[in-house]
Amino acid sequence: MRAIVFAGPGDFSLTERPDPVPGPREAVVQVEAVGICGTDLHVLDGEFAPTVFPIIPGHEATGTVVSVGERVSNVAPGDAVALDPSFYCGECSFCMAGHGNLCENWDGAGVARTDGSTAELVRSPAKNLHRLPGSVDLAMAALIEPLSCAIHAYDLLPRWIGAHYLIYGAGTMGLIMAQLAPRAGAASVSIVDPNPQRRQAAREVGIKLVGGNADEVSRPGGWDTVIDCTGAVQAIEDGLMRVRRGGTFQQFGVAPNDAQARFSPFRVYNDEVTVVGSMAVLHSYARAVEMFTAGALNAKPMISHAFDLTHYGEAIEAFRAGTGRKIQIRPQATESLELL
Ligand SMILES: [Zn+2]
Ligand SMILES: [Zn+2]
Repeated sequence: MRAIVFAGPGDFSLTERPDPVPGPREAVVQVEAVGICGTDLHVLDGEFAPTVFPIIPGHEATGTVVSVGERVSNVAPGDAVALDPSFYCGECSFCMAGHGNLCENWDGAGVARTDGSTAELVRSPAKNLHRLPGSVDLAMAALIEPLSCAIHAYDLLPRWIGAHYLIYGAGTMGLIMAQLAPRAGAASVSIVDPNPQRRQAAREVGIKLVGGNADEVSRPGGWDTVIDCTGAVQAIEDGLMRVRRGGTFQQFGVAPNDAQARFSPFRVYNDEVTVVGSMAVLHSYARAVEMFTAGALNAKPMISHAFDLTHYGEAIEAFRAGTGRKIQIRPQATESLELL
């Protein structure tokens, strides 16, 4: 099979690899689509601590099962599936306490020790495969992995019907968080992004309150829930000040690991502001499949480019340049497409 291989930091190539063969509890999947996200760049640049090179990247994938091991019963050849890329050891203190996403021996397909899905075929533990109904567009369904991160983030927020939400950043994660807010009981959801193309994307997925900054969507007294989906210190510092008394600020965007943000401890005390983090996926992948199938995301306007394997370099360059919206690789394709 053909696969993109990261041999080491900054070093990738399209390589011929032996076709994977499933172990007893594994399946092999023909990959339909795999999204590129910021983590892939950190992996390629050698900035993601868990990465062991060489590795095939790609963790936001869907495809069709082509073969299964003898002890597999949950999927069969021909099934359309989404791949949960997270592996937990099940034995460390965090796993034992139900926090598998914080596992001391955490592994992620395409980002840590196990090969990912930027290849014609990928091998996966069968238990990480989730069947999709035939009505679902397999390529669009590659948004299920980021959706599962967003559902975990909502699991950590207080449930308050009638809350007003403010979201920083209209990239893929911001758009997903904003589209979930009404389903979590939001009375309103505002989204802010200084980039006009991203604001346009927000409008196209159906968000009505869109601005370049929080003053443009202003709300007297602030917002019950403010969610940072940028990782940018300026947005984080601004967002903390926009939380209503008694409200919640969530750090969902990934900041550089040495970034420092300023906040007023007096305000957090006096206004009873809650600050919560959210990291990756926890017991939320199956629900992401349910929510995607139920139409929780307006997916079409979110995906702008589909590159074939031979144009992986162009895909990475486009992502780095901030071109378009979600960029995918489609390993079975023979040409690259602009979708919007
Ligand atoms: Zn990702
Ligand atoms: Zn563990």
